[in-house]
Amino acid sequence: MDFQFLGGASEVGRLGMVLKSGPTSILFDYGLLPKDPPQYPMPAPPVDGMFVSHAHLDHTGMIPWITRRQDLDVVLTPPTADVADLLLQDSLKIADAEGFDAPFNDHDLRTARRRFRTIDFGDNVDMGELEVTAHPAGHIPGATMYEVNGNETMLFTGDLHTLTTDLVWGAKPVKCDTLFVESTYAGRQHPERLKSEYAFLKKVEQVVNRGGIALVPSFAVGRTQDIILTLAKARHEVWLDGMGKKVNSIYVEHPEYIRSAKALRQAMHRVKVVDGPRTRQLASRGEVIVCTSGMLDGGPVLHYLDLIREDPKSAVLLTGYQVEGTNGRQLVDTGHIEMYGVDVEVKIEWQKFDFSAHAGHDELVRFIEACDPRRVILMHGDQRELLAEALEGREVVLPQEGHWYPL
Ligand SMILES: [Zn+2]
Repeated sequence: MDFQFLGGASEVGRLGMVLKSGPTSILFDYGLLPKDPPQYPMPAPPVDGMFVSHAHLDHTGMIPWITRRQDLDVVLTPPTADVADLLLQDSLKIADAEGFDAPFNDHDLRTARRRFRTIDFGDNVDMGELEVTAHPAGHIPGATMYEVNGNETMLFTGDLHTLTTDLVWGAKPVKCDTLFVESTYAGRQHPERLKSEYAFLKKVEQVVNRGGIALVPSFAVGRTQDIILTLAKARHEVWLDGMGKKVNSIYVEHPEYIRSAKALRQAMHRVKVVDGPRTRQLASRGEVIVCTSGMLDGGPVLHYLDLIREDPKSAVLLTGYQVEGTNGRQLVDTGHIEMYGVDVEVKIEWQKFDFSAHAGHDELVRFIEACDPRRVILMHGDQRELLAEALEGREVVLPQEGHWYPL
C-alpha cells in the first residue's frame, strides 16, 4: 500500500489523502481551506471511491469538484451528507457574495448529492480488495473514523475527540497496524470541559446581571449545539440566529448520532429563534444571542456586534478557535475588526472559552497508545513534531503534501 496527501498533512485545512492498494485507490476527505479566497488541495488523481470523515468544509469543500470529473461513490453518514450539502450550498453563496470563483457550481453540487452513499457506524463497504468499516470519531454528530482491512489494518481518524460531551459520545480506540491520526492540538492541552462550561455560564450571568447582552459567535455545525445545550443549564433569554438553526433541525432528524436527542430538542425549545426583521429586533433587546459566524466573518453576528460595540455592559464571548486572517483572530490580536469594509475598534469586553471538538495533546497520546499501531502517520496539524516526540518507540511519519509514501 502507498499513500499521498493532496493537502492538509502539515496544516489544518484542505485535507485529502489517497490510499493505493494494488489496483484500488481510495480518497479520504477532500476539503478546502476556508480563507478569503479559499485555498484548495492538489487535484485528485483517478480513484475508485471516496470516504468522508465529517461535514466541515475543510474535509468536504471539494467533493463536487471531484464528482464532476469522476464517476465514484462518496461514502458518508446521513448527518454528514445533509450538513455537508448545506455547507457546500452556503460556500457557493459566499463565493458569489465575495466575488471569487467557486471550484464548482450548483449543477456540480446536485451531481455530488446523487453520488452520496450513506452508511451507519459499524457498516462495512468493500472497495476492490479492501474492506472499510465506519466507527464513531466524536468531534461532531456523524463524524466517522474509517478502518481499512487489506493485507494489514489501518485507521483514518478524520477529526477526532475522545471526550463525551452533551452532544456526542467520544471516539473509542481501534486496534490497527497503521494509524492516520489528526494532530490539530499537538503540544496543546484543553482546560477541563466542565470548568470551561462553568466559566462560560458564569460570564454570561455576569453580563446579563449588569444589563448587557452576551453575544456568543458560534460555528453553525457542532458548536452552536454545544452552546445551546450548555445554556440550557441556566435560565436566560437566549436567541439563536444564523445557520445553526438549520443544522439543529438536521441533527434532530438523526437522533442516533446524538448523545441525547431529547436533551438537544429540549435545549432547542428553550431558545427563541430569529426568523425575520421583527424577531431580530427583539433579539437585540434580549439577554444572550448565539449566532454565526463563529469567527466574526459575515453572518448576522456583525449586525449584533455593531449594535453593542459601544455598550460597556455587553460582551463578546468567543467559543471557537479563531483562524489567522479572520475577524475573530484580529479581535483577539488587536482589539479591532473589519465591519462592512471599515476598520473599527471593539471597545467592549470580550473573552475566549474552550469548547474544542478536537482531542488535546494528552488525549491524542492516550488514544494512539490504545490503538497500539506499529506505525503512526500524523496529519492535520502544524505542530506535529510535538506529538511525534511523545510517541517514542513507534515508527512516526510526518508526511508532506504531494509525496507518495509506502506502507
Ligand atoms: Zn472538523
